[in-house]
Amino acid sequence: MGIVFNSSNFHSDRASKGRVLVAGGAGFLGSHLCDILLREGRTVICVDNFFTGRLENIRHLLRYETFSYVRHDIIESIDLPVDEIYNLACPASPPHYQANPIHTMKTNVIGSLNLLQLAAHYQARIFQASTSEVYGDPNVHPQPEGYWGNVNSFGPRSCYDEGKRCAETLFYDFHKQHGVDIRIVRIFNTYGPRMRPDDGRVVSNFIMQALQGKDITVYGDGSQTRSFCYVDDLIEGFHRLMYSPRAIHTPVNIGNPGEFTVRELAEQIVAMTGSSSKIVYHPLPVDDPRQRRPDISLAERELGWKPTIALKEGLQATIAYFERQLVRPSGELAEVA
Ligand code: NAD
Ligand code: UDP
Repeated sequence: MGIVFNSSNFHSDRASKGRVLVAGGAGFLGSHLCDILLREGRTVICVDNFFTGRLENIRHLLRYETFSYVRHDIIESIDLPVDEIYNLACPASPPHYQANPIHTMKTNVIGSLNLLQLAAHYQARIFQASTSEVYGDPNVHPQPEGYWGNVNSFGPRSCYDEGKRCAETLFYDFHKQHGVDIRIVRIFNTYGPRMRPDDGRVVSNFIMQALQGKDITVYGDGSQTRSFCYVDDLIEGFHRLMYSPRAIHTPVNIGNPGEFTVRELAEQIVAMTGSSSKIVYHPLPVDDPRQRRPDISLAERELGWKPTIALKEGLQATIAYFERQLVRPSGELAEVA
């Protein structure tokens, strides 16, 4: 069984060879990343404050001797000899990152700073999970990495968008000033198994609502677009970037260029679940981006990466996951808010 650190015994002087720290490893994406690192024989330390992460996402990993986790908030400094760091720690869903916006900003800025200092100290390679939100409500479509974005610094999404932008700047500066070996992925909306049923993002909301026969809550008129990437494709992109033979120290978009309106997504999920739910319209949240689609030519050219899983296929696997979450051992349906 993997080791469980706590904050008091967390400092460790064990040999660092091949040790990978995954901050946010108990979350949706982080747990899938831990899976593949462990399968490859790496030693993985998951660092998570369990704000949106869940033990059930990593419980199956405790059988690995090479896996351990610690409950720790990255806004507090950390000292652990490691060779690689993945920073995925940050709530990704708007309702969750807006619940405590100051903490979200601290996670992105102070948390990234702490991990960059750790990387500089141990000469570890460090990966940052950045976001398409750095493009804000984009005026350029699709979005290439060279687009500087259209971001509001003074609104409900700013703690996340500006926090992630600031984190990218810190990565740039640690690379320039201290020679830290950085990798930055700009992730476009990604979905799949292990999202929380109460995550609040659109794919999990619509599937949960459809499976429970509740109204499907489309915000605005549903004409805004997103490009949805299945989690397995994304993690493959992470891996290719982190271990690319040619080091790429600039941000790289990873996402699926297939672009859908939110209304199309709702209709697709209702059809695939055979649900009796009806689509209802709620006000559009402040600063909700009108459109989003990655230009992935850099990833295609430099990493030979492109997504392989179509929306319908990815939704099938995700719907099956949420069905399993809802059905208790007795076979009855569990109610999830
Ligand atoms: P998630 O909310 O499931 O996972 C985030 C994890 O980070 C959780 O386990 C949470 O408990 C942990 N965490 C949050 N704040 C922390 C802190 N201060 N200290 C330690 N742990 C902390 O979200 P996700 O979808 O898995 O996203 C992972 C990363 O990828 C995030 O950084 C997010 O911004 C980025 N991202 C995700 C998407 C997406 O579509 N999934 C898109 C763009 C960017
Ligand atoms: N959305 C929606 N209904 C929901 C949740 C989200 O219509 O129940 C919309 C939201 O307004 C946005 C899109 O779906 O236009 C994607 O939202 P999400 O929170 O998943 O991600 P983000 O806005 O960060 O891309």
